[in-house]
Amino acid sequence: MKAEAQCGAKRENRASVSCPAGLGCRISPLLGDHMRPVAYISFHTSPLDLPGEGDAGGLNTYLRNLVSHMAKLGFHCDVFTRQVSPSQPEVTWVDAGVRVICLPAGPARPLEKDELVAHVEDFVEALVPRLKSGGHCLLHSHYWLSGLAALAASKVTALPVVHTAHTWARLRALPDGGESRLNAENVLARSADLVVVSTDHEEKAIVESCNLLPEQVRVISPGVDHERFLLPSASKRVQARAEIGAGPDDLVVVCVGRVQRLKGTDLAVKAVQMLSKQMPSVASRIILAVVGGASGADGRQMMEHIRLLAVSAEMRARVVFLPPRSHVDLVEIYHAADVCLAPARSESFGLVALEAQACGVPVVAAAIDGLVCAVRDGESGLLVARPDPNLFAVALGRLLSDDELRTRLSRGAREASRAYSWELVAKQHCREYDVLLELDGIAACG
Ligand code: UDP
Repeated sequence: MKAEAQCGAKRENRASVSCPAGLGCRISPLLGDHMRPVAYISFHTSPLDLPGEGDAGGLNTYLRNLVSHMAKLGFHCDVFTRQVSPSQPEVTWVDAGVRVICLPAGPARPLEKDELVAHVEDFVEALVPRLKSGGHCLLHSHYWLSGLAALAASKVTALPVVHTAHTWARLRALPDGGESRLNAENVLARSADLVVVSTDHEEKAIVESCNLLPEQVRVISPGVDHERFLLPSASKRVQARAEIGAGPDDLVVVCVGRVQRLKGTDLAVKAVQMLSKQMPSVASRIILAVVGGASGADGRQMMEHIRLLAVSAEMRARVVFLPPRSHVDLVEIYHAADVCLAPARSESFGLVALEAQACGVPVVAAAIDGLVCAVRDGESGLLVARPDPNLFAVALGRLLSDDELRTRLSRGAREASRAYSWELVAKQHCREYDVLLELDGIAACG
């Protein structure tokens, strides 16, 4: 691992180095036509995994979009991930300029997150020769386990490390990973050449809790795929609604993503259950579509719990449970929706909220973490003070009983989503890589 003092000094210079070509840095003297590849580390999950259950969620969507847009800017991107099946191809080309490379580390089968830390060393052992022969110029790790691998690989290769945590144990409502994760995240934040975070709130919290200089952290908000997530035509909307059994008078509420306590899927079902008592005539028109599968240690239990709530005596709404689906099919869920519920107890950003808004669907979310950035209260959705089913029920009742409000917020949702795009995310990363490589004196041209 590079000495922290050295990294710190390098970072202090960051402020004075400007990207030669502003955001469009393809013409940078360092990052030219013959760029050396960037190594992305995604140890515990692959961008090829279907998000929406298990360990696959927003991180997978983020990384898949980041590398594909970095490739459009001219970068060659190698994503290194752990092999989880003996039949998995070692190398998969996913786009021009983007390869996913599976490395052996521990048994070639899916493992629980707490089992994975023991195999980081094996992963690094397989990774380092690849980096040496591949001539990579930079390591960009995603999630703390990948960060550990990147730091260890950097010790041997002297490559700079950019780290995106996606979630920090210290900022979660229900911390997981114990002391070892907290300590590892602390070391990572201090040792990486740059930490990328999604919001100003995350930046402030990490700078304060890890005692960093502001220059050590950059805020780059996630994006949304506007070519895929867009307003439906009238006929597509009718068709999408028919596919989940909804007619013109039904009120479709969607709750999309991994099912676990932290994601608050239970709060969504409870809110609709409460509305059944408060506004039975509205509730009887509701179809709540829960899209996603169990995730994490409490996922299965949560799934059973919400299935029981859904058939309870007081429930007036219909609840449909749908398995996770690819983005191609997920867009139909947003096209069927009148409202999206984002009921997480803790959410580093909330890509589902961005995707729903891009499709013109207002979002009801708790005013926590990244959701405060993703959702504009009273403009693109409604924010409630806490992740509390009572508050969600009130906001949902207000929105579902007021057609004019929904129409206004639907327009605002489209408008709010325009501030976010993966193109912008890639350009911002491009600028950061450029500055970092220039400071490191790394010849990015091979
Ligand atoms: N997702 C998906 N298919 C599904 C359910 C979810 O592709 O059936 C994707 C969704 O489109 C989003 C991601 O999973 O891009 C979830 O990201 P979010 O930030 O909302 O939650 P996280 O998983 O990071 O907690």
